[in-house]
This record gives sequence, C-alpha cells and structure tokens, in this order.
Amino acid sequence: MGKLKEEHLALSSGIGLAGSSIDYFYEFGENAFEIFTKEIIEAIVKPSKTTAVHWYLNFFQDISSDIHNLKNNVDELEFIFDFIVRTLNEVNLKPDLPLPNFDTCTDEWHEECTCKDTFEQWEKYVIKNAAIVDNLIIHSAFQIIFLDKKFLHDFHLKLADVTECYIDDIQKQHPDFVTPKKRIKRTHFPKWLTNAVFYRDKATCSICRCDLSNLIRTQNTIHIDHIVPLAVFGSNDASNFQLLCESCNTSKGARSTTTSSINTPFWNLESIF
Ligand SMILES: [Zn+2]
Ligand SMILES: [Zn+2]
Repeated sequence: MGKLKEEHLALSSGIGLAGSSIDYFYEFGENAFEIFTKEIIEAIVKPSKTTAVHWYLNFFQDISSDIHNLKNNVDELEFIFDFIVRTLNEVNLKPDLPLPNFDTCTDEWHEECTCKDTFEQWEKYVIKNAAIVDNLIIHSAFQIIFLDKKFLHDFHLKLADVTECYIDDIQKQHPDFVTPKKRIKRTHFPKWLTNAVFYRDKATCSICRCDLSNLIRTQNTIHIDHIVPLAVFGSNDASNFQLLCESCNTSKGARSTTTSSINTPFWNLESIF
C-alpha cells in the first residue's frame, strides 16, 4: 500500500462548511449541482480524487467573500481579525506580519491609529492565498462528509437525476465511459480508493456487518459496491462506494441503494436524562 502522508486538517473550518452545505442540500437539493455541472461530469465518469462532493462544497466555500460579508455586517475590526488569524492558523499558514494592538489602542473606531493598516495587511494576505485556504477547508470538510454514508446516499441519488438528464452530453464527451444502454460504465478501482473505503468502513461489510479484515482467515473477498448503482444512473464518483462482503454484494439488487449509518462510536451513549 502506498504510504499516506500526514497533513494539517482544518477540522473546525471543515466541520462548519460540511454542516452548512448539508443543510443547504436538504433545503434546495438539485439547485446545488447547477454551477459546476461540467466539473462534476469530469469527476463522476471515473474515480477522481476531486469528487462531485468537492465541487459541491466549492460552491459554498469562499474565504474572500466571507471576509467581505463580515466587513459589511460586523463593525468590529477585532472580531474579523480574530476570524482571519484563526482560519490561517487552521490551514497552517503563518504570515510574517505585524500584529495590531487592539488591547492598548484608545481609538475606538481605529480611524487615526495604525490598527486598520495592520489589519489590511492581514486581509490582503488571506485574499492572496484564498485558493489555498479554500482548498484546504474543502479537503477537510470532505474528510467528515466521507464518513456519512447516509448523506452520500442521498447526495448520489440526487446526482443520479442530473446524470440521467445529461447522459447524452456525457456520452458525447466521454464515449468510452458510457454503455450502449446509456449508463455510466463500470471502471476499475484505483488502490487509493479501495484503501479509503476499506479503512472508512473499518473492514466491515456495510450491510451484514461481517468482518472482512482477513486477519485470521483470508478467504473473505472484499467488494467495493456503488452505493447508488450504475443501473439507476449512479456514477463512479469516488464518494459513491462502500465495502460489502461477497454474499451481500451478490444479493444486493442492481437497482438497490441499500446502505447503513451504523458505525462504531468512540464510546457508547449513556442515557443522561
Ligand atoms: Zn486602533
Ligand atoms: Zn455482508
């Protein structure tokens, strides 16, 4: 197995983005795919590390406009400055810039002092690095959403409507990836994807919960299954897969979208009320 590199993950920012994007999805659903249709089609014909979910998240993540909105809605420079510092810190960007001295400044609106000037240097730095910041926050939000097979199921069911609607265009652009029956064609799974699904699903069949770790007995074949099947316009998007055992994979119908939100918590819930 290729070694995974460790990374700084902007989890706080990512959790915020994941939460608001999921809320929006259930409220507005299909509208969400309109902006990046072209990019999403590229992502779903064969497994790509930038998935349809990444493009969906990209629609909501824009650090430059977040700062712009804060400036319009919040009068407090110090509050916006804290937001910038917290975000930069999370994505591990450490600019060598002077710090404004809000604590000792006596100019309430920072009109005559140097605070505003210092603030603007930080603001400029974030905007210059906006693409890096946005990418890392999207990457981090994906780490959380990828755990949520129930959401992925709903997401890919909606995306299937889009795929069905655009299938002729997809066939024109990617003739090798569409079947004569006008469905996305089965492709091979790259190792990075098989590994990700295997570890996310903790070597356990998503349906019958049997053990597929093969630590003791090695005859258990693992199957990587399309959560929303190709037959119902599901796709090869890297976020549309789950781990199944051979018998569940065989008995899951070609049109069935069975998945499960059963998982192993850090500890079990105790009743507290
Ligand atoms: Zn000041
Ligand atoms: Zn099973």
